[in-house]
Formats: sequence, C-alpha cells, structure tokens
Amino acid sequence: MDKYIPLSIPNFEGNERKYVDDAINQGWVSTGGAYITKLEENMAEYLNVENVAACQSGTSALHLSLVEVGVEPGDTVLVPTLTFIAAVNPVRYQFATPVFMDCDDSLCMDPVKLQSFCEEECEWDGEVLKHKQSVVKAVIVVHVFGNMADMEAIMPIAKKYNLKVIEDATEALGTCYSDGKYKGKYAGTIGDFGCYSFNGNKIITTGGGGALTSTDAKAVDHLRFLSTQAKTDPYFYVHDEIGYNYRMTNVQAALGVAQLEELTEFIKRKNDNYELYKSEFEGFELAKLMSFRSNTYSNKWFYSLLIDRKHVGCDMRDIVTALDEKGIQVRSIWGLISNQLPYREYEAYSIEKAPCYAERVLNIPCSTQITVDEIKYVSAEIKQVLQGVW
Ligand SMILES: *Cc1c(COP(=O)(O)O)cnc(C)c1O
Repeated sequence: MDKYIPLSIPNFEGNERKYVDDAINQGWVSTGGAYITKLEENMAEYLNVENVAACQSGTSALHLSLVEVGVEPGDTVLVPTLTFIAAVNPVRYQFATPVFMDCDDSLCMDPVKLQSFCEEECEWDGEVLKHKQSVVKAVIVVHVFGNMADMEAIMPIAKKYNLKVIEDATEALGTCYSDGKYKGKYAGTIGDFGCYSFNGNKIITTGGGGALTSTDAKAVDHLRFLSTQAKTDPYFYVHDEIGYNYRMTNVQAALGVAQLEELTEFIKRKNDNYELYKSEFEGFELAKLMSFRSNTYSNKWFYSLLIDRKHVGCDMRDIVTALDEKGIQVRSIWGLISNQLPYREYEAYSIEKAPCYAERVLNIPCSTQITVDEIKYVSAEIKQVLQGVW
C-alpha cells in the first residue's frame, strides 16, 4: 500500500458545499446570519438542551464559561493534567490558579482523588472551599477521546463543595449515558457548562469553531452577548461590559449545519471501526485497545492503543516514526500539562496514573472514511513494529 493513512481528517460527504455556497451567495459571511442561529437550534435539539451559543473555538467556549462562573485573578480552578493544553490555558487568561488532578483508568479525572483533595487539602466552611487562602471556584472535567468522565461520581463532589462544573466536551459531542442516573444525558449537558469544538480533527468540523451550553439558559444568552463585543444597543455603540470577539461566523456555521446532519452516521462508523480494530488486536499481547465507559454510548472519537511498555523495546518516538515511514499516521498522547513550561510552578495533586498512561497510549487512524482493508493493514503494521520486526 503506497497510500497515506491519516490519523483523523474531516469528512465532507453531505451538504457542506451547498450550505456554504448559500451563505456566500446571501452575503452573510461574518458573525451574523441565519446559519449561526440554525446551528444553535439544531445543536440544542440534538443535545436536548434549551440554549446553545456558537462561538469561535472550543477554547473560547471554555474561556467564556470561566468568565460566567466568575473566575477571577487569584481563584483556584481544578483541572486534569492529562489533556490538551487548551482545556487549561483559559484558567490563566483569567489570571486564576490551576491545580492539576490525576486521571483514573478511563483517562478522565479521577473522582476519588478529586474528593480527597477537597477534603484533605482544602478548607470548607459550609459555603466556600478554600485552598491556601484561594477560593476554589470550579473544576474543568474533560471527556477524553470521547470517553465520558465519571460524572455520576464527580457531580455529587462538586455539589458538596460548591464547585461549578465546566465540562470540556470538545472531544465528546454525541457521547451520552445509556444507563444509570444520567441515562440519555449527553456529555456537556450534565455540569453547569458544556463546551464543544469543531476544529479540523474533531468528530464534526467547521474548520475552526465551537459552542457552549449551560443548565442556566440565561447564562448562555449572556455569553452570546459577550461573544459579540457586548453591544447593548442595536443602533448605537453602547457597551456596559467588556466583551470578546468570540462569535462563530455564518460560513463556519453553514459547514456546521451540514456536519451536524451527519453526526449520527459518523458516530456509527466510529463505533463499527472501533469494533474491527478491537477484533484485530484481540489476543495480541503487546498492546490492547482501551475500552470506553460501560454505561455509556460513546462517540468513540479517538481510539487508544495501550502499549505494554515492559515488553515493547522501542520507545514512542521509534513507533511513531516507523509507522510514519509506512504511511500510517499515529500519535502519542499528550505530555502532562503540569510538566509544560508555563505550568511547572503550579501544584499537582497526587499525580500517579497520568504519567503511566502518558507513556503508553498511542492514538491510531480513526477517520470516518477509513476502510476495512486499511484498518487491517494498520493493525498488522502496528503489530509488526511493536514486535520489533520492521
Ligand atoms: C480540541 C480541544 C480543545 C480546544 O478546542 P479548539 O476548538 O481547538 O479551541 C480543548 N480541549 C480539548 C480536550 C480538545 O481536544
């Protein structure tokens, strides 16, 4: 095979061109236009929520959520260390202090450690949780690779300690609980705020873009207002608050409306392909495909191969470059945020599992267009590389 098999690329098999053309023909290309409203309405319907605001990126959705929560300089926000850095940077945009939390075996935030941090490292006066004199205002929970974090365990802890929950569902659009207390609830609709991303490699894309929702519909209205420079008067330039240029454009929204029509099909393909990979790696001793939370239906956005570090001789860099030479794009999971230069000075609480997973997880090609033959080829080549025969 002399073909290149990418990790994750967009799929525009639907009405994308038609709707984008329409937006351009109408002349509505910027931060006003009918497609923006349509995307918001369609997303709200899909997620079964009252109100959704479309914005410029997942990062801006996270930043706006922190603004609405009232995170201020000197406040503390609890964040995962094993995640993409965009989930953490907005904490610093507000000049607040991140404290890094460990993951559990789902790669998402460990609720047991979240609880013990609040109980043992903080002071609770019945209203406010304080960590070293700083008010702990919120926790950012990331649904890593489309896997639902343990919201059944996290929500009661947040409630107990008066913490706002911001769900980073940028990788988990479409993931929902299929059973239990939150049956039918989608990732991003359980906490106080939910943030989504439509970047190029996410399950649906608008090139760049994002969205947010909240259990408080008025908060979403307020953030939509802030995202368009907080202009109070439709005719005159009156601004009573500091706003942002964080709104999605109509051209992006046109793409988004088309992509959302295909989401159910994309998730089905991601699930089918996951099963195929799983059977390919069944019984293989040097690596296994990680599973998704059992009482959920996951969008299975990214597939994680867990490498047996004891028995695989080559390091991650060797694996990635060897496969790249074979035309297969794979990616090692993120480096821990608490080890990145801007974040080394901040506290990291009892980080034990995250470093192990950071060394062992490999993401493998998962585009919705990937074929059965390609999955078999990728699997066979990965096995060879891990066995040291290439
Ligand atoms: C993609 C991503 C983001 C940021 O989304 P953008 O739209 O790229 O700003 C944030 N958090 C996580 C976990 C992501 O994967």
